Amino acid sequence: MNSAPKYGLVIHGGAGAIRREKMTTDREQAYRSELSKAVQTGYDVLSDGGSGIEAVQKAINVMENSPLFNAGKGAVFTHDGHNEQDATIMDGSTLQAGSIAGVAHIKNPIDIARLVMEKSQHVLLIGDGAESFAKSHGMDMMAPEYFFTDLRWQQLQKAIEKERIAKNDVSTHLDHDGNLGTVGAVAYDKGGNLAAATSSGGMTNKRFGRVGDSAIVGAGTYANNRTCAVSTTGHGEFFIRSVTAYDVSALMEYKQLSLTDAAGLVIKDKLTALGGIGGLIAIDSEGNIAMPYNSEGMYRGYRLSDGRSDVKIWEDK
Ligand code: ASP
Repeated sequence: MNSAPKYGLVIHGGAGAIRREKMTTDREQAYRSELSKAVQTGYDVLSDGGSGIEAVQKAINVMENSPLFNAGKGAVFTHDGHNEQDATIMDGSTLQAGSIAGVAHIKNPIDIARLVMEKSQHVLLIGDGAESFAKSHGMDMMAPEYFFTDLRWQQLQKAIEKERIAKNDVSTHLDHDGNLGTVGAVAYDKGGNLAAATSSGGMTNKRFGRVGDSAIVGAGTYANNRTCAVSTTGHGEFFIRSVTAYDVSALMEYKQLSLTDAAGLVIKDKLTALGGIGGLIAIDSEGNIAMPYNSEGMYRGYRLSDGRSDVKIWEDK
């Protein structure tokens, strides 16, 4: 039990204002069970000798297919009542990466991000172009109704109403309470390779083609075998400005900080000082993990080959 893990995986299902007192037992149970399923799915890939890339993709697919998370099926709505999803995947062994932004008809956005990484010469594709690329690789398009969930629709109505009452300037009202559930995964595989991935519907009531950190390599996702693999969640504008995921890696590479110190510094000190809310998950090339956040909670879970595993939403009481 005390030897370093030989492989492992950490996932998140979003950070933000998850109020313990408002959470019903049934809802908490539903989250815990989907998180456990995602952890187990990714872990099984690793224990069968699969790659970190395959593990993070498969773990994310489980959450993208669940209405509970703000990715795939449960994606939040834009101001105009559409879904525009962002996703990124990165391979720490090659520093290859693939991202997509603003896609509206893709069941599993992380799957196209992986196609962009492996089958194109590009890193980031957006909107219709990204969807044509997906079609050219045989990916099925979903009708917009597939992504309709009443909860997300109500969250949009609330955000619009808040905006109306506050008579906010048109570009301002992104309601972070209403977008919980971005999903991410990071893995360390048996071959010693690191991988990271993130998938998100972005923020409720976004408009003007707003793109979040989940589509930006270095902000929402980063992996480098020399350091660590990172996936973030929270108010994306702050993560883009802070280049958060890369910052954790850079602190390890250039300042020799440990994973825990680097991840803690980036979220608890730097993001907080800037006024940003959210968290990240990370794993390093020795199998150490970190899951810091500065919000009320963060849906998260992990399983490591040394036997440790857990699923959590808040800190223990
Ligand atoms: N980071 C995502 C975005 O800003 C949202 C989230 O993680 O809650 O698009």
